[in-house]
Amino acid sequence: MIEGSIQGREVINSGLFSRRRFLAKSSYFGAIYAAAKLVPMPALAAELAEDSRISQTPLVDKGFASVRKIGEGLYATISDPSKGFQTVCNGGFLAGKDGALLIEGFISVAGAAFQMDALRMVSQVPVKGALDTHYHYDHSTGNSFFGANGIPLWAHANTGKRIVESYGALQGADKAAFLGPLEKAVKEAKTETARKHREEYLGHVTTVFNVANSTVLALPNHPIDPAKLPMKVDLGGVTAVIESYPGHSGTDVVLRVPEQNVVYAGDLLFSNMYPVTFDTQATVSGWRQTLKTFASWNKDTLFVPGHGPICGQEGIALLRALFDDIEEQAQKMHKAGVPAAEAADLYVVPEKYKNVAIFAWDFSIAPTITKLYTEWGAK
Ligand SMILES: [Zn+2]
Repeated sequence: MIEGSIQGREVINSGLFSRRRFLAKSSYFGAIYAAAKLVPMPALAAELAEDSRISQTPLVDKGFASVRKIGEGLYATISDPSKGFQTVCNGGFLAGKDGALLIEGFISVAGAAFQMDALRMVSQVPVKGALDTHYHYDHSTGNSFFGANGIPLWAHANTGKRIVESYGALQGADKAAFLGPLEKAVKEAKTETARKHREEYLGHVTTVFNVANSTVLALPNHPIDPAKLPMKVDLGGVTAVIESYPGHSGTDVVLRVPEQNVVYAGDLLFSNMYPVTFDTQATVSGWRQTLKTFASWNKDTLFVPGHGPICGQEGIALLRALFDDIEEQAQKMHKAGVPAAEAADLYVVPEKYKNVAIFAWDFSIAPTITKLYTEWGAK
């Protein structure tokens, strides 16, 4: 990777990341998702069409997201960013006899409110809390909804700190100085492919900057100490367990409902999408270990991923295969003497994965390759 781009990546990795005003300023997002070749996202993997636990008719469908029942007292919110940017990530909620738990702050207050309204269509029990599965903007920049509504906000103990470091740091910062290295990276790109990747990256980071500067951030007030996990949450007839696993952001928690074989996996699972590994605390080896654990769970487990359609174990198998394929190609390049910075642009999506979505090259494929090189002690 040329120097400017490395700098740019470090800038974003050191945190500068956020988003949320897209509601008022959806043009930012239009540009981003146009760049990402956004395609309509089904709510369900084809393999689950016959699964009796899943309601085939959504409780509510607003286009940008739909909510459906996936178990007793269990609901999944599945986003389709091709139709709007109110939620962007997936989430869901659990409703027992005594209480309810909401999952994700989403990318906007409107998204968090949408999910709360869906909960109220099926239950009037008190909301015990809302859980951010990790700190990333698309899961947390709608958090102020919870503050305004007196709902305790739960998250991994490092989530608040990472939100402040990542998105708070951008507020009032010098835009030209911030984007300069990334613009330089576009200009200095040595190949057409590299230029396209750097341009796409610049587009995303510009959006992040603009949005961070027009967002009122809200932080979790119920930190979850990972050393004290697993943590049981009894909602009355519905019991969930919160666990923490490494791989995607260093702040990831998942919510399991063992009695019903349902898992809300957050971004430790991208369903029918390449993994997003840009975070400074993302590790390829840690993430693959986590996926191995997920694969060891019951074969009938239903997974609600952070992005993409609800899936079963086949979704875990695909994400593992994508990591394997990137590793295989990266290894060949490494053996052929291709440096990490160049290899990062040279992965070829195989024909069999051509329908697998890529959020953005420099957030997913490129950092996966450079992190693999680092794990091998190579450059
Ligand atoms: Zn994430």
